[in-house]
Amino acid sequence: MFNALLVEKDEESGKTSAAVKQISEDDLPEGEVTVAVEYSTLNYKDGLCIGPGGGLVRNYPHVPGIDFAGTVESSSDDRYSAGDKVVLTGWRVGEAHWGGYAEKARVKADWLVPLPEGLDTRQAMAVGTAGFTAMLAVMALEDHGIKDGPVLVTGASGGVGSVATAILAALGHEVAGVTGRPDSADYLKALGATEIVAREDLAETTKRPLETERWGGCVDAVGGAMLARVLGQLKYGASAAAVGLAGGADLPAKVVPFLLRGVNLLGIDSVMQPYDNRLRAWERIAKDLPMEKLDAMVQPATLSDLPKLGADILNGQVRGRVVVDVR
Ligand code: NDP
Repeated sequence: MFNALLVEKDEESGKTSAAVKQISEDDLPEGEVTVAVEYSTLNYKDGLCIGPGGGLVRNYPHVPGIDFAGTVESSSDDRYSAGDKVVLTGWRVGEAHWGGYAEKARVKADWLVPLPEGLDTRQAMAVGTAGFTAMLAVMALEDHGIKDGPVLVTGASGGVGSVATAILAALGHEVAGVTGRPDSADYLKALGATEIVAREDLAETTKRPLETERWGGCVDAVGGAMLARVLGQLKYGASAAAVGLAGGADLPAKVVPFLLRGVNLLGIDSVMQPYDNRLRAWERIAKDLPMEKLDAMVQPATLSDLPKLGADILNGQVRGRVVVDVR
């Protein structure tokens, strides 16, 4: 028997509740590789899966945790054998499939990547889905050309935003971080932000489709009216990488910035990302994300902390990256 954060649903009221319970290997779903999980993390989606489900969880009882890192215990797939260190992000693990909030997980071999050289399992989960996605966004901006001038990061003190800020600064870019939390300014500056933009400066929609050209690129974790505003402020030919919807799923924008300034809106998906690009992103993380900056973002947690932390992240109350030691 081993510990897992189990989410159960009361069929009558429809309410879910999460608590640490003992489960056995027989309870685990089918899969080729059984992993002794060492660390998992907390992402926005985890908040949904620990709590109301958000339409992501198919069946209850459920073990959330959309990412994990650990050591292979057994494998019926040739690519992995006992003792290998592995990382998992995406593939709807922790949503449609049981995830990383347990001392053991059983998954498809296709979903795993070997632990990147230069990272241990704790660091890999300090990065986690949020940091992996931040790297995908930076790579997409690079592929389309980052223009001169500050690169804007929205939702900057969140998981995606914190890692994007640290990576972009380490690559030598000026970084402007948008935050709704004034007390995050010192934190963001320590990660390398050179400018702090108040959330309310970009929160309102405007009738003007084009504003002064300000940003050489943007990693956007917020969406909604903020992304629409940013499109009108991008420099000629610059790109915004759309990562998240912390501020809303609507995009109340005009096409004018695309037509008159040749700006690009790049979609970033971490869940179904092909294997080769996953390896490329993890290699870049090991190379370009300063580990001391990563350490400064980390808030440690255990399985029993997750019900509260899940609610906190849905309320925008979590700063940086929560690393869950599941053992
Ligand atoms: P976090 O909750 O850690 O960060 C989101 C940040 O956005 C908050 O910290 C806050 O930053 C800001 N924010 C929150 N609410 C609002 C609001 N109403 N208006 C404006 N800003 C707001 O989440 P993550 O960093 O883990 O994820 C960010 C987004 O990216 C989520 O929507 C998530 O679902 C998505 N995501 C998408 C992935 C993909 O594959 N495309 C993968 C991973 C995440 P501050 O306090 O600094 O303002």
